[in-house]
Amino acid sequence: MLIPSQILTLMQTYLPELFGALLTFFALNFLGKDEEQGKNNLSYAALAFLFLSFKDIILFGSFILADFVPFIIPQRGIDATAYFLQSTSVILMFVGGLQSLKVFKVVKRELTLILCLIAILASVWVVLRIPATWQIILPTIYLIVGFFFLGFCFALPHRHGMNQILRKTGLTIILLGFYYLFTITPWGIESQVHSWGIEAILYCLVILSTILSTTSLLKEQVTVLQRELKFSKAKIPLFIQASPYPIIISQLKDDRLMLVNEKASDLFNIDIRNPKIFRTEEYYVDPNARKELLRRLADSSVVENFQALLRKPGTDETFWLEMSARVIDFENEVALYTAFKDITAQKQHEQDLFEKAVKDPLTGCYNRRQFQELANKEIRRAWRYNNTFTLIMLDIDHFKKVNDTHGHAAGDEVLKALAACITGTLRTSDIFARYGGEEFIILLPETTIENGYLVAERIREKVAALMVPVSESENIHFTISLGVVESTYSSDINELTKYADAALYASKENGRNKTTVYGDGEVYEKEVPAPKTEDTSAEKLQADLVKQAQEDIEKMKYGSKS
Ligand code: GH3
Ligand code: MG
Ligand code: MG
Repeated sequence: MLIPSQILTLMQTYLPELFGALLTFFALNFLGKDEEQGKNNLSYAALAFLFLSFKDIILFGSFILADFVPFIIPQRGIDATAYFLQSTSVILMFVGGLQSLKVFKVVKRELTLILCLIAILASVWVVLRIPATWQIILPTIYLIVGFFFLGFCFALPHRHGMNQILRKTGLTIILLGFYYLFTITPWGIESQVHSWGIEAILYCLVILSTILSTTSLLKEQVTVLQRELKFSKAKIPLFIQASPYPIIISQLKDDRLMLVNEKASDLFNIDIRNPKIFRTEEYYVDPNARKELLRRLADSSVVENFQALLRKPGTDETFWLEMSARVIDFENEVALYTAFKDITAQKQHEQDLFEKAVKDPLTGCYNRRQFQELANKEIRRAWRYNNTFTLIMLDIDHFKKVNDTHGHAAGDEVLKALAACITGTLRTSDIFARYGGEEFIILLPETTIENGYLVAERIREKVAALMVPVSESENIHFTISLGVVESTYSSDINELTKYADAALYASKENGRNKTTVYGDGEVYEKEVPAPKTEDTSAEKLQADLVKQAQEDIEKMKYGSKS
């Protein structure tokens, strides 16, 4: 039966090493986790301390157990296991030490296992063959070699930041090595100075230095990150200046400029030395475009490929820009980063293509296909809002004679003059197109037949008064015949066109230079109705104004209609 003083000796012998080694294992393991690269070498070193503590658990446990169940546990087996664990921990100290020196990057797991196997055999051999006195000293010699090796590997000055802070740990591990060296000297054995207290203090030192290393490692990492952040912040203006695109960083709340590269200052005529006068709203042709951009930024804080028409302040010079904008945090302000791309040429090209596709090249008014498209839209709109529109079809009288007498080129001039004259008479919302050779069609939205008739007559009279110069001495004078129909007759544009054509035919039949109104299923010439008095309420004026402004803006954006 173990007496309390024996238990105390057992605890003094094994517990400091057991807890010290176990805690060192956790501390080194934790330290290794901070840096992916350092993890491997430190985890081998940490494992070494884990094995050391296992050895003490086994020895301590076996003494206690042997007291209760003597003879069941073979003493030699326990010794061999303890030697094996101790020598393996030394092997792991070598592996960890070499790795911390970057002697080899990865120690093959197989190699370590083979070394451990050798350690088992050697342990058995030690137990069976080596004299008892040496059996006590030999494992301690292993340990001394292991501690010295690992300690020196950690303590060697390295350029690598991680190893640099491991030096403290390395030095205390060397101190442990010296302590064990002292315990096997005759003076050490006799003096009993190697009490558990010194051993415990040394292990505490190892743990403490590891913890300190961890703290300084974290501090160092924070410093590095702060330096990197400062460095990359300092580089932002350089990158922005070097960008091939105009870039502006402005405060979101008041548009105050924070950073403008040279390309942007050229594009916007900004005086970089006095940039306070820059106000973005002055640049937008359509203020709604700016609002739309802000709305989209509110939705997602990043807006790509936003297109807008801008104007240089104080001039009529407009340009199309494609913008990529994002809300950023710049110099502790909520800022808007905007990169621009001038797409005026591309827009112009698109506009040219569009014009080519929808317009008649001779007269510049819409072609027949575009008329169908726009007229169909207008029909749907008229039905939805219960509006009435008027359709006018017109044809030049005796045009063949113009061609025959003055030539085809003169005929072309007449067609151009006619189109220009009609365009000048119409509103921008009216749809005017060349329907065939010398036949034209007009759709007057939101227009009753009475007003439509008046428009037709005005056109007829203006054309009749036209003089088209075809040579220095010659002017051509010509007339047109017109047919007018109200949209209430049909919801089909082709049918309405047929009715207008029938009315036009009636004008021709009745002597040309006339306007005929289609009605009641038959073609008849309508009496000129008295012009209606205009509704001039303020609401109407305001509504018209808004509509007009929208049309003007659209005109500016997409080019003028014929
Ligand atoms: P009406 O009063 O009955 O309309 O007589 P018209 O001579 O105008 O008769 P018609 O409609 O048969 O003649 C149309 C002429 O217009 C025939 C064609 O040579 C001419 N024409 C059609 N397109 C063009 C064009 O682009 N340029 C020129 N110069 N003439 C054209
Ligand atoms: Mg004709
Ligand atoms: Mg004709």
